[in-house]
Amino acid sequence: MTTGKSFFIDQTRCIACRGCQVACKQWKNQKVVATSQHGSYQNPPDLDASTFKLIRFSEVRVEGMLKWLFFPEQCRHCVDPPCKMAADMYDREAIVVDKNTGAVLYTERTKALDPWEIRNACPYDIPRIHPETGALAKCNMCVDRVENGLLPACVKTCPTGTMNFGDRDAMLALAEKRLAEIKPSRPQAQLVDAPHVRVLFLCEVHPSMYYSHLMAEPGLRRAGAASLSRRDALRKLTLMA
Ligand code: SF4
Ligand code: SF4
Ligand code: SF4
Repeated sequence: MTTGKSFFIDQTRCIACRGCQVACKQWKNQKVVATSQHGSYQNPPDLDASTFKLIRFSEVRVEGMLKWLFFPEQCRHCVDPPCKMAADMYDREAIVVDKNTGAVLYTERTKALDPWEIRNACPYDIPRIHPETGALAKCNMCVDRVENGLLPACVKTCPTGTMNFGDRDAMLALAEKRLAEIKPSRPQAQLVDAPHVRVLFLCEVHPSMYYSHLMAEPGLRRAGAASLSRRDALRKLTLMA
């Protein structure tokens, strides 16, 4: 059984107010990033080393009707994180998992890793490289707040009930309950990769309609694990030689 904490993000309730995105910036004391109009309200256009939470916008056609979809993206805090599997081959302390919450935490030691190897290991394309320090950066589940009995800043600020956080069992139960409620009217609704991640996204249409990396590509986790095993074996052989 997987213990620790989880998020439940009910995308059927998101109104793209971006309160969570701003709250993350404020709590993490991150600078704003200058951007220009690029044909979308999504701003900034992508995650970066000072943007750990991003509302992604997409305009799609569902049953003949134009619809906006909003995806509050962040690190999924994978149960068996592929980014950590990749990092562990070089330094087991560079990426660590918090034993109480299950949060996947990046340390300053990520500076010494090959950043693209770590980024490529992530099935959701989350880690970003800090342009000045070279360290890898992403959401840390606001463990400093959680350890002190507070909600993550993005959850605390959300006005619609989209963002939820708590014990993993409770979040899984809440997510399954909400899925059962909306399934009759939205038959494509699904929870994305729920057994593998601590951020449970509820989509009302296929995840790829929100964003190409919302869902891990089929087989990517297995392929990633297999290639890591091969590399691990090669590294061990090198060390023995
Ligand atoms: Fe690591 Fe990516 Fe999983 Fe986050 S989503 S824990 S960066 S593999
Ligand atoms: Fe940002 Fe904290 Fe929310 Fe992560 S949990 S996205 S660090 S506010
Ligand atoms: Fe959506 Fe809540 Fe974030 Fe607003 S604060 S953009 S409703 S998840």
